[in-house]
Amino acid sequence: IQLAEREKAIWHQANYDFLTGLPNRRLFQDRLSHKIDRVIRTHKSFALLLIDLDGFKEVNDTLGHDQGDQMLIEASNRIQNCLRKSDTIARLGGDEFVVILNDIENRGSVETVAQKILDTLMRPFKLKDTAFISASIGITLCPKDSLEMVELLKNADQAMYAAKENGRNKFNYFTPEMQQSAMTRMLLVKELRQAIQEEQFEVFYQPIIDFKQNRIYKAEALIRWRHPERGLVSPIQFIPVLEDTGLITEVGEWIFIQAAQQANKLRQTFDSDFQISVNASPIQFHNQSVIDWIDLLNGMSISPHVVAIEITENTLMETTRVVSEHLLRLRDNGFQVSLDDFGTGYSSLAYLKKFDIDFIKIDQSFVRNLSTHSSDLALCEAIIVMSHKLGLKVIAEGVENEEQMNLLSDAGCDYGQGYFFSKPVDSESFEQFLLEFDAQNAPSEKMMQS
Ligand code: C2E
Ligand code: MG
Ligand code: MG
Repeated sequence: IQLAEREKAIWHQANYDFLTGLPNRRLFQDRLSHKIDRVIRTHKSFALLLIDLDGFKEVNDTLGHDQGDQMLIEASNRIQNCLRKSDTIARLGGDEFVVILNDIENRGSVETVAQKILDTLMRPFKLKDTAFISASIGITLCPKDSLEMVELLKNADQAMYAAKENGRNKFNYFTPEMQQSAMTRMLLVKELRQAIQEEQFEVFYQPIIDFKQNRIYKAEALIRWRHPERGLVSPIQFIPVLEDTGLITEVGEWIFIQAAQQANKLRQTFDSDFQISVNASPIQFHNQSVIDWIDLLNGMSISPHVVAIEITENTLMETTRVVSEHLLRLRDNGFQVSLDDFGTGYSSLAYLKKFDIDFIKIDQSFVRNLSTHSSDLALCEAIIVMSHKLGLKVIAEGVENEEQMNLLSDAGCDYGQGYFFSKPVDSESFEQFLLEFDAQNAPSEKMMQS
């Protein structure tokens, strides 16, 4: 008898989730495969719902794992209360739950349950403090979408992912188009790995003009991907994928080295103040990679002044300790920091001061419609005055014509960047551009001095 008890205990341990007491992934897969068999015999449908809590990691990080565990237990109870006896629920791990709704008549009945789950999770959680959470739900139907277990789980996952992308706290059905876009993405990831191996990336440079001195000693490094068949691919299309896959670390380091060497070279040959700014994504702050850049420069005996790091307001607003520590450490090591796309996010003045930002880059959306008396001009002027009061320099992005340049320059803007001066170009053309610009502008300046 004792042995039987022990076996039972072991079986229970292997099949049930320790925290919530729900079936675990293993038992769930067992049940799911039985349900599929049943669909084949009875032709009755079921719906598979994948429920993922939104922002659970933050709850865990801020309230502690203990409280996180309590929330998971409470969430599992609440979800169960939305189900019938005949339905199945399991915890797949982390903050992921899965539900099978049996013998469904129509979409309406599925949606009623899904909405009920979203509503019940929205109610406050009475932990040590009151906490709030929401969930995103992906739904796939069997046999309509598939009769394969692996595929059903994948469908639900893609649908859940789409619900998150749509703004969270939503449910979403799987569609064949999702399958298509997931495949396109997978292909893109494969091609990007290949691009790293075969060195298909290039760094382009776009000059940044000093308005007052009419002089160029700054530029921004912008990545380009020369795809063997599709030609130049815009970073907007592949940077997010590099970020999601973590490949951004490796590629970002490569860009950083190229830019630092290029700036160092230009300091020696062209202008001893030359500085090139490099874009860094939040991911590179979360892992150590931006900190590695300090040693990288040391190793090349290049001064940190040759580069500036461009971060977005999102990075700045991350209140996690890691990000702020990294930012301050970069500052202490002599790196300058630019705040990119300023005006599109929600950063506060307090942050600009706290992190000792050096440059503000006014987003192109404000520069695009600049004209005398326009509200965008008032905004640009306000940003410039505010920045100067705080001791920051201002760079205007997306300057495309002379009028914009004059308005910005009159408003006291320090620097401008945009197609009016030059598009981003490869390093060779960039050096050529610098020489030509110098030849056009330097003589008069020298004449004035003499
Ligand atoms: P960003 O950092 O704000 O870069 C400025 C973008 O504006 C560049 O687009 C540039 O080509 C474009 N631009 C410059 N002047 C003008 C203009 O006068 N008019 C218009 N319409 N556009 C102008 P690009 O090169 O396509 O890069 C897009 C974004 O991709 C960048 O925005 C940046 O967020 C990201 N990115 C580019 N290179 C890197 C990189 O090496 N690392 C990371 N993490 N992100 C990068
Ligand atoms: Mg930038
Ligand atoms: Mg920008």
